[in-house]
Amino acid sequence: VKQTNAEDNGSRSLDRAAARARISRRVLFAAGGVTLVAGCTPLAAQSVGVVGAAGSASGATVPTQRSAPGRTTAPGGASSSRRASTPPATPPGIGPPVDPATVRTVPEYYVHAGAKTIALTLDDGPTSQYTPQILEILAQYGVRATFCMIGRQVGAAAGIVREVAAAGHAITNHTWDHADQTKLPYGAIVSQIERTNDALAAVGVRPQIYRAPYGNWSPPVFRACAAFNLRPLDWSVDPRDWSRPGVQSIVSNILRHTRTGSIILDHDGGGDRSQTVAAMRIWLPQLLADGYRFTSV
Ligand SMILES: [Zn+2]
Repeated sequence: VKQTNAEDNGSRSLDRAAARARISRRVLFAAGGVTLVAGCTPLAAQSVGVVGAAGSASGATVPTQRSAPGRTTAPGGASSSRRASTPPATPPGIGPPVDPATVRTVPEYYVHAGAKTIALTLDDGPTSQYTPQILEILAQYGVRATFCMIGRQVGAAAGIVREVAAAGHAITNHTWDHADQTKLPYGAIVSQIERTNDALAAVGVRPQIYRAPYGNWSPPVFRACAAFNLRPLDWSVDPRDWSRPGVQSIVSNILRHTRTGSIILDHDGGGDRSQTVAAMRIWLPQLLADGYRFTSV
């Protein structure tokens, strides 16, 4: 039971081969002797059959949560497990109360702000080396973006966080330490959100959005988002800049896949992001010249 899926981070080297094979967002669920394979394809409202242990179709269908039209590449790199089993009920007393009606089952993959309107997200900062370089480029072109910050990095880069906020960019909660939240119990997911919110609050930022590390979502993660009134945010264009595929690769990937509503994933942390920065100096003015405008998510 494996999911090849990573946007970034230190464990990205674990499954490079699979990432190269672009086993995009493939999810294999296994529960109670039932195996369900759901690949992320550009088909909206895609359904996949459930095949029983004996190999016969049960007739039941389950809509995949990965039905983002136009989703291009998968975050690749690390492996993680995901189970389709029902999560345990929230233990009493853990985290804020949750109105079940507000719990999402899918994250947001697109912005809906008009023709040729798109969004740019920068994950895994703040970092003293790359966040300021990105800010400079964005300021040069008058573009507002969304920075998905790792909580434990906020304190040491408080001044940079304030600069990001002062420039009008959105800041989201990207967990405390970038662990795969689908492997954590609900209480730990809550704690990761809370610590990050607290770190950001200390510099005057109150995030309204949550981005899951590796784009790994689970019912408890969605529930925790609801508990803290955070919108779950994913992406739809992934140039895999974290894998340092080359500046031209990042540029061409973004230019090839971006369309109205796209949310582009880029990184200002998690390693050497010099290719990300160099690529942005090329693709950003190109998209603007093509008539695109950027909105915060
Ligand atoms: Zn990340």
